[in-house]
Amino acid sequence: MTSALLPNYARAPLAFVRGEGAWLVAEDGERYLDFGAGVAVNALGHAHPHLVAALTEQAGKVWHVSNLYQIPEGERLGRRFVEATFAEVAFFCNSGAEANEAAIKVARKYHAAGGHPERYRIVTFEGAFHGRTLATLAAGGQQKYIVGFGPKVDGFDQVPTGDFEALEAAIGPETAALMIEPIQGEGGVRVIPPADLRRLRETCDRHGLLLIMDEVQTGIGRTGKLFAHEWSGIAPDILSAAKGIGGGFPLGACLCTREAARGMIAGSHGSTFGGNPLAMAVGNAVLDVILSDGFLEHVAQTGLRLKQKLAALRDRHPRVIEDVRGEGLMIGLKLAVPNTEFAVSAREAHLLVIPAGDNVVRLIPPLIVTESDVDEAVRRLDAAAAGFEALRGAAE
Ligand SMILES: *Cc1c(COP(=O)(O)O)cnc(C)c1O
Repeated sequence: MTSALLPNYARAPLAFVRGEGAWLVAEDGERYLDFGAGVAVNALGHAHPHLVAALTEQAGKVWHVSNLYQIPEGERLGRRFVEATFAEVAFFCNSGAEANEAAIKVARKYHAAGGHPERYRIVTFEGAFHGRTLATLAAGGQQKYIVGFGPKVDGFDQVPTGDFEALEAAIGPETAALMIEPIQGEGGVRVIPPADLRRLRETCDRHGLLLIMDEVQTGIGRTGKLFAHEWSGIAPDILSAAKGIGGGFPLGACLCTREAARGMIAGSHGSTFGGNPLAMAVGNAVLDVILSDGFLEHVAQTGLRLKQKLAALRDRHPRVIEDVRGEGLMIGLKLAVPNTEFAVSAREAHLLVIPAGDNVVRLIPPLIVTESDVDEAVRRLDAAAAGFEALRGAAE
């Protein structure tokens, strides 16, 4: 039977009925090791007891009240982000693209409030992904996503990563901000060197620009810090978060300094669903775990183990795996075979991984994965890679 859904996704012929930790169970009872985590969303895995309890407890009280009223759970979540980061204020929404839309609006309004409404342009970087709304698509700059959807939203100038000459040339009297992912996720787990992030901070300061970090994928503990930019020692003015922040509940956030947010007053931005009590209860429960003693160290250590084992795997299968890159539990395998085919082979070995740009597959498991989950994932990747070696051998 043909699907009644818009055919905008290429879905695998597989449906899951339940999950537990890093494992998903399909309709036929088969178990899959989930190293995709719903694209870095299920930060605490599936059916985490603390999240289930927080969601069901709040569901029995009040789900939604609108932002016409006080939302104590949101005040608390905002306070916790302020205490844990560079930020002084938080705005909650429902997705990564919305968090970036908020970030872009905050940056533009900052300059307007300072008497420079002509400063609205934002410099972004090649290989970026910032979301699927019309403005965030223009920010990401990928032609294949932009063509056919009418005029591209104005106000975004793109330069290659690491090219500071091109960056200086792109900055003009209309530039408001730079926007960058500290590790490009969809672009293929391309790490921006910490020294480059520091240089971007310096460039912003020199030109009076705001620095926006898109940490939708890298944030909420993914790299072993609460936010990935912390590895570089610098702080942005504005940060967007989503994906892992709700552990699977739709939630996004835009975190800012008070100075960056100086243009935002009552009525200047909003969201009907954003920051509702249900979302805020879950967001607080996610932070309970992520900020608990030793959790981020666990992510860093497990990530290191994964990366080391994958380096050995690359040495064993150099004709399949070209490179291992990333930080913490955000690892990319740059492949010498087609990444989508490799992802299918991994799935046949009951391991879920996620293709990305630059012929990479991403390993972005729940942050609660154990050492034995990691070892099992590497065994299954070994099996998938060996399958390709056999094919290659036969062809030669
Ligand atoms: C996924 C992603 C987005 C978009 O998030 P949505 O929730 O799909 O809108 C934006 N930026 C980055 C870096 C992402 O990885």
